[in-house]
Amino acid sequence: MGATNNEPHTVEAYINGEVYKSEEHEPRMNPAKTDETAGYWPLNSVEDAKRAIDAADAAFDSWRKTEMKDRVERMKKGIQKIKDNQHDLAALLSREHGKPLYDAEGELTVSIMFMEYAADNAERVYKEEINEDERGKNVLRHEPIGVVSAISPWNYPLALSTEKIAPALLAGNTMVLKPSPMAPLTVTEVTHLIAEEFPAGVLNIVHGDADVGIELTSNDKVRKIAFTGGTNTGKHIMKAAAETIKNVTLELGGNDPAIFLDDFDVNDEAAMRRVVISNFLTGGQICMIAKRMYVHESIYDQFVEKYIEAANKWLRIGDPTKEETTVGPVNNKNQLEFVQDLLDDSEKQGYEVKQLGKVDDEEFFEKGYFMYPTIVLGADYDSRVVAEEQFGPTVPILKFKDDAHAIELANDSELGLTSSVWGEEEHAIEVSRHIEAGVTMVNTAAIQGLDIRYPFGGVKQSGIGREYGEEGMLEYVDSHAINIPKTKDLPHIPQ
Ligand code: NAD
Repeated sequence: MGATNNEPHTVEAYINGEVYKSEEHEPRMNPAKTDETAGYWPLNSVEDAKRAIDAADAAFDSWRKTEMKDRVERMKKGIQKIKDNQHDLAALLSREHGKPLYDAEGELTVSIMFMEYAADNAERVYKEEINEDERGKNVLRHEPIGVVSAISPWNYPLALSTEKIAPALLAGNTMVLKPSPMAPLTVTEVTHLIAEEFPAGVLNIVHGDADVGIELTSNDKVRKIAFTGGTNTGKHIMKAAAETIKNVTLELGGNDPAIFLDDFDVNDEAAMRRVVISNFLTGGQICMIAKRMYVHESIYDQFVEKYIEAANKWLRIGDPTKEETTVGPVNNKNQLEFVQDLLDDSEKQGYEVKQLGKVDDEEFFEKGYFMYPTIVLGADYDSRVVAEEQFGPTVPILKFKDDAHAIELANDSELGLTSSVWGEEEHAIEVSRHIEAGVTMVNTAAIQGLDIRYPFGGVKQSGIGREYGEEGMLEYVDSHAINIPKTKDLPHIPQ
């Protein structure tokens, strides 16, 4: 795909089996060097979105009747093409997003891993089940829902799009995908690679911001919305879906707690490296990383000392295309300003904001949206930096008294996406049982703690429904029970 050079890369929409060229394109700049354009993406109109939905709707009837073997073969061909282009795709992702190369490669790996899981398990998960016993016979079918609108955010544009594409298409649905304008290039390339393997109209991609998003969530022909993004956007989407009772899967914001129990070994350097690296993976712009750290008061001082030591050793801020870089720029100006505002507020409140890590080249701070990773010490439990999802390179570290206190603090949020508990394994598992979250990771966090074979999602205002695992695959089907009871009359009705 020729994305290894630094020339701007132009992408187009894909509608009804064809590349859909636009007159108008918007630049996507490189957040590490804001004077460099990573590429151009098409500014599609609401009319284009309708065209894509019509194409998906027209393709649905024949696509739903195809054999599973055919669907799986097509999906595997698409996956193979992504693998063949993996390094070019990672380089383009790093340039448009700002995430370091290793991180971009990691995102591609996760995307491929789940698409393969979905392809390998589709036959089993979606197969018709026939059960018969003394009460009668039952045929349980998994029917595709129809046209799916998929809307994804900028922070993990590939993984959060492909995790929707693979199960939706394998289940017999058709789809229109709209990625975020903040990372639109690589996800478009990936979608084209997959879409080319499927009949016209089965997979379409259009670009745009809220106007196109609103069409995708309110059009009568759309039967399901698979959305990942902020909680406020999720609320708008749920309202739009209510008009025609569309099925929704909502993966929303998180303010994930990490609990370090009294038996967490602060001298375990490998564990401390995991803590630090996971905190600042993708510059802290991941839904499933620690956004509030609660440390038992008996180990707090030592923890902070060792954390700073590890952070200064492992966090290298700089050019995301360099292999040694572990923290790149923030993806966009709004996010940078939001995180800076939280830090300014913290300093105003008298909390300590401590800079971490090494910068290879100070010049980078002039060129792009860079900021130092920081920790905030001494914050109040209800302060802004604790209560709001930072989604950037900062995290507060707070104290707790005992397990019950840690659990109370962890659950004191309207959000409940993921969480992590660190300490002696059985003790950590027991504390995990009491946390209000869709996922809890023990002695690890972030992408390292994701197991794509198990469901992922949030409780409370972090969302509805699940992605990944069998449960995630079943979000793309309606069950249809065909019941043939032995006793066909109600027993209490007089004969
Ligand atoms: P966002 O909600 O601003 O945007 C997400 C997508 O929705 C974009 O494609 C955007 O163009 C589109 N959109 C905006 N308004 C819309 C509307 N009214 N109708 C339909 N679509 C609309 O989120 P973001 O800033 O791109 O991503 C960051 C947020 O996503 C964070 O809160 C983060 O926690 C969350 N997130 C959640 C998960 C998860 O799995 N739960 C994963 C990643 C990110």
